[in-house]
Amino acid sequence: MDQMFINGKFTGGNAVERIEILNPATEAVIAEVPRGTAADVEAAVAAARAAFPGWRAVPGAEKAAMLHEAAARIRAHEDELIRLLTEEEGKPYVENEEELLWTHNTLDYYAELGRHDRGRVIPPGDPDQFNFIVKEPYGVVGCIVPWNYPLLLLAWKLAPALATGNTVVIKPSEYTPLTTLRLVEIAFHDFPPGVVNVVTGYGIETGEVLVRHPDVPMIAFTGSLATGQRIASQAGPMMKKLHLELGGKDPMVIAPDMEMDVAVPALAYSALLNSGQVCTSTERVYVHESILPQFAEELTDFVSKLKLGSGLDPDTDLGPLLRNPFREKVEAHLREAVDSGAQVLTGGKRPAGMEKGYFLEPAVLTGVDHSMLVMREETFGPVIPLMGYGKFDEAIELANDTPYGLGACLMTHDHRLVKRFFEGVQAGTIWINDPLTDNYAGPFGGMKMSGGGRELGQEGMDEFTQVKHVHWDMIGARKEYWYPYGRD
Ligand code: NAD
Repeated sequence: MDQMFINGKFTGGNAVERIEILNPATEAVIAEVPRGTAADVEAAVAAARAAFPGWRAVPGAEKAAMLHEAAARIRAHEDELIRLLTEEEGKPYVENEEELLWTHNTLDYYAELGRHDRGRVIPPGDPDQFNFIVKEPYGVVGCIVPWNYPLLLLAWKLAPALATGNTVVIKPSEYTPLTTLRLVEIAFHDFPPGVVNVVTGYGIETGEVLVRHPDVPMIAFTGSLATGQRIASQAGPMMKKLHLELGGKDPMVIAPDMEMDVAVPALAYSALLNSGQVCTSTERVYVHESILPQFAEELTDFVSKLKLGSGLDPDTDLGPLLRNPFREKVEAHLREAVDSGAQVLTGGKRPAGMEKGYFLEPAVLTGVDHSMLVMREETFGPVIPLMGYGKFDEAIELANDTPYGLGACLMTHDHRLVKRFFEGVQAGTIWINDPLTDNYAGPFGGMKMSGGGRELGQEGMDEFTQVKHVHWDMIGARKEYWYPYGRD
């Protein structure tokens, strides 16, 4: 295995070089995959294009059965896929169990949703007319996926894309292609050739070729703002459908009525899940000033007891960061904050005695302000910066003081604050008292610079269709309002 998957076959394609895949907990090379080329993207797009008319025509119930079967196969290989994911991505096994669950359940969800809806009928614009709206697939969809949730974020694109009749070319992250390749081998190997294709490789050498390809009318992308901007600048002039899920700098506001023994673990989970490498990680925390000192103390105590280690060890709370440059970026944010007057209450150091692996102790900071990188830019690491607020309006203003708008969380039992928060905060997802939860039936996505695409729910399926309005005059008689005007 560890080959690309093009037109129903595993292949090394045109690659002459291979990319080494590391285990971030040990730094060991665990596999190699082909360094795909433009010619491989070309072959995958040609295969997907050729497969499109046939796949589009497959009846809904048949497509649904195939997607359910794919989900069942993934379930049957659960432990193997979770282990592989833990080895290539690094987060704890228990978090990958959750990721796998979301992967096969999303296939089941869209298998059903996709067979029920293909448009609507509206009242006629003219008595002889029959007016209806058809939702049509785009054709070949390029699915470009990041490394932090390689299977879940793939499923959120792949399932609705296939359910609505598109064919796909997947470009997994160059850091985490192994589970994608294995998943396709397990679940999609016998789909009609060309319906699902995977090209491994680097962003510029493969992803960008997909973005610029004239036969790829839609790009579904999850990744960083910088890459999203680059994709938009290239695909925008080609008028492609862009489905962009970008970065975040999510706030959490903690109201003074909230119990500490709820708010502290909720925040730790929300900020440190996957070692803070979640697009919706809480990266800015606003605590009411009346409780800030005690809150900081209890949080510090809680966080300092969390256990770092291999994701395969059941006692591990936090795994490593993905690679050293990402760890260095987090350290640079911490350094800049400290140089500007912030205090580190715990963590922020490479753990003693763990020479291998890109580990970093989770950090709690106070004395931060919005001039610091740690409150402005996506840190994407295990860092919890705490800032006080007085009036609730001030908390909302601080929460909105960011170019991003992915998620936001409020911890309170006060329903009056809830309304002000969800109306006032500009974010695509609002959580009250239960951060980072998702729901298959409801959309996930961003506002502002976090991108405008939506995944999950009906909205997440509609992204993969374009609408066509059909005006059908069923009588076909000559109309009196046609030419010539003013004469019989
Ligand atoms: P990234 O932007 O570096 O890479 C994402 C994917 O794009 C990879 O497959 C990469 O190879 C590819 N790519 C890179 N350059 C490209 C180009 N010029 N054209 C086409 N494809 C290209 O992101 P990453 O480091 O893999 O992931 C982390 C980022 O993803 C964070 O910013 C995080 O917030 C974001 N993210 C967002 C969501 C969301 O749903 N909004 C979810 C998870 C992660």
